[in-house]
Amino acid sequence: MINKTMEALGKAPSKIREIFEYGKKRKAEIGEDKVFDFSIGNPNVPAPAAVNETFKELIDNNNDVYLHGYTSAAGDNDTRQAIVDDLNRRFGTAFKASNLYMTCGAAASLKISITALVTEGDEFITFTPFFPEYRVFVETAGAKLVTAATDPDTFQIDFDTLDAAVTERTKALIVNSPNNPSGVVFGEESVKKLAAYLEKKEEEYGHPIYLITDEPYRELVYDADVVVPYMTKYYRNAIVCYSYSKSLSLPGERIGYILVPDEVEGAGDIYAAICGAGRALGYVCAPSLAQHVIEKCAGMVSDLSVYKTNRDLLYKSLTDYGFTCVYPDGAFYLFMKALEDDASAFCEKAKDFELLLVPADSFGTPGYVRIAYCVTTEQIQGSLPAFKKLAEAYGK
Ligand code: PLP
Repeated sequence: MINKTMEALGKAPSKIREIFEYGKKRKAEIGEDKVFDFSIGNPNVPAPAAVNETFKELIDNNNDVYLHGYTSAAGDNDTRQAIVDDLNRRFGTAFKASNLYMTCGAAASLKISITALVTEGDEFITFTPFFPEYRVFVETAGAKLVTAATDPDTFQIDFDTLDAAVTERTKALIVNSPNNPSGVVFGEESVKKLAAYLEKKEEEYGHPIYLITDEPYRELVYDADVVVPYMTKYYRNAIVCYSYSKSLSLPGERIGYILVPDEVEGAGDIYAAICGAGRALGYVCAPSLAQHVIEKCAGMVSDLSVYKTNRDLLYKSLTDYGFTCVYPDGAFYLFMKALEDDASAFCEKAKDFELLLVPADSFGTPGYVRIAYCVTTEQIQGSLPAFKKLAEAYGK
């Protein structure tokens, strides 16, 4: 006998991966440029040149133990110091290296944080639409994932559905802004209201409700007037899960961190539990070379101008063709209403035009599809006639 839960997870890969694999097969059959693959959030914008130069410089100028040896379990101290210096400069905070735990990206940050916090009977809430792996992370930690629908027109927080979801068993709320898959950003007013609401519920229940803020897209916003509030400044019990996968286009390097500010209730014990969860999950010591690169490149961001061009072109064209899309302030996803109730059937129809879109059912929002526009602008331009034909196939 083996672990049936794990077997089932392995046998049912995520919908995104399934479509991505189909795309690879289809490209081999009919040619790379004939398939418009919008399935996966793999940044196509290169890492900043300085990042690749730093990899080379480090390799040329350091010994192998420094480059490839273990760092401290919680991460290299100089790396953690460089990261908090950057955060403190940008957000006016006063974090210390000891507030950080280096991880293999946001997925590890989330899994470790959830595992560190969970006790029997706990519930974790997230807003729909949500990154489907939250369900995997929460349920395999032995807790329940409870979803709260956002406003169906704006995908902003609906405080009535949130209030219906919060109970005495709520351990944490997982928030992702800029959001995958909607691209929506929660602005300062919403964040202030959310913080006030959670504080009220903490008081009512007599225990903390943690805010796990999943931030791989923090820097990916495209207009000067869009500000992503730094959650720890608004809510005392916020724990940040960050990753360089998208901001530095380094998803394969597996590097990110968890930030537990001192003011979080039980911060010392939570940090210890994070170290313990990292240990129990086999996640100690994030990749060393990537940590050393981050030490030198913490404040950098890839050139995001292609994403903005893509966002603008895609949003304008698709709405012109008669599709309904949520205007994405950030991340690199466009969230579009399917032209029939069954989004999976709609995505199958889109395949007739070689368009690979992801049905959003597993994101908790049936009837929508996600279009990952972290692709070349040429791919977007090439795909537009196909999108037009798809709209026409539904009488638009
Ligand atoms: N959280 C969200 C919302 C994501 O979209 C992703 C990846 O796409 C992750 C977490 C995991 O990111 P990482 O590659 O850093 O593990």
